[in-house]
Amino acid sequence: MKLWLPLLLCICVIAAAPVVSEPPAWQAGAASAKITPEKSMWMAGYASRTKPSEGVELDLFAKAFVLTDQAGARFALITLDLIGVPRNLRLAVAERVKKEHGIDPANLAINASHTHSGPELRTSNIHGSAVAVQRGKEAAEYTTKLENTLLRLIGEAIQKSVPAHLDYSTARCGVSMNRRTPDGKGGWSNFPNPNGPVDQTVPVLKASSAEGKDIAIIFGYSCHCTTLGHQKFSGDYAGYAQQEIEKAHPDAVAMFANGCSGDQNPYPRRTMELAQTHGKSLATSVQTALETHMQRLKGPIRAAYREIPLAYDTLPTREQLLEEQKSTNKYLAAHGTRLLQHIADEGPLPTSYPYPVQVLRLGNELTWVTLGGEVVIDYSLRLKRDLKDPIVWISGYTNDVMAYIPSLRIWQEGGYEGGGAMIYGTHPTRWSDKTEEHIISTVMELRKAVND
Ligand SMILES: [Zn+2]
Repeated sequence: MKLWLPLLLCICVIAAAPVVSEPPAWQAGAASAKITPEKSMWMAGYASRTKPSEGVELDLFAKAFVLTDQAGARFALITLDLIGVPRNLRLAVAERVKKEHGIDPANLAINASHTHSGPELRTSNIHGSAVAVQRGKEAAEYTTKLENTLLRLIGEAIQKSVPAHLDYSTARCGVSMNRRTPDGKGGWSNFPNPNGPVDQTVPVLKASSAEGKDIAIIFGYSCHCTTLGHQKFSGDYAGYAQQEIEKAHPDAVAMFANGCSGDQNPYPRRTMELAQTHGKSLATSVQTALETHMQRLKGPIRAAYREIPLAYDTLPTREQLLEEQKSTNKYLAAHGTRLLQHIADEGPLPTSYPYPVQVLRLGNELTWVTLGGEVVIDYSLRLKRDLKDPIVWISGYTNDVMAYIPSLRIWQEGGYEGGGAMIYGTHPTRWSDKTEEHIISTVMELRKAVND
């Protein structure tokens, strides 16, 4: 009997110890809605598609997270299982979020997963064909509905907000690989390059209630959402990762924010099973981060946002465009036609594009930089080096997805991400060689503007 006494004493001492719990430093809420098109639509991401969607493999979602600090300042994040964020959608949502919920446009980030198995969102007659008129009409109807859904989600997230803790950690996931490989002829192929630069970090932010109930699990990764390229709607690996996390954490809204994925692909690819496998791998990494020394974040929300006039390279002349129009490359010929049409309808070609740069600080540790477009991995690696904050998170595909955004290295190397892909859009030519410096110097200025 004597042997039991010390053990019993120990239990008593433990049970009598006061429970130490710090008061939550935030209010947080999240909401989610299905945004899978209700009917067949043209799909986005591959110019070579010849027919509209044929069914659904995995539903698409829009999700919202709203965080409020002790002074009442708010940050709103929207994530979309879609190819991009049309500029007009961002502007309309930002204006209404300000008007209806009092959240400043600088404090709103809208990130797209860049799934290539979602609906086409471009409303312009992008490929100059008769089918494109129908495609544009469908896209306009879809985005109008989406705008209302996003506003409703922000309202819901505010309404659901409760006192919350915010914790951060990271893990790694090996799904992504650099996709620029020298083709042996002085150019670049879209082919797995195990020796090319990557950033396989998986940043994870968790909001939970004072009682420890999950509210939201927000995670990032730098990898193109292109495991799939077929005719069914799907959120691809990012959709499956969110589904897995929500299965394991039924109270949480799982939100994926794509990173600097311009030159990063998932490998291998092309089947639904691989999209599921990559999704599970990423979800496993998120779980690892959740179990690995999460750091509690406290402090105020600060945000700075600027649209910079990102300059194009030397514009093509009318004569050059007339030549382009005669090209045997149908995409190049259509690009020439579009630009000549622009000159006829609207006058001279633009010399720059309004490019969004955002710096958010959630508490005193985390600096979250969001950039528009398909930013290549060099931006993530450089900004993590240049910014001296304890935690740095870089997201691309945010607030507008207008084109690839090469670093100076990739601009000089050329190839698809360096400027070649510009013929598929409405941009007059590639970006200028000042692109990287203009974006990085803006990030640094905005970072200073949100100093303590
Ligand atoms: Zn892309």
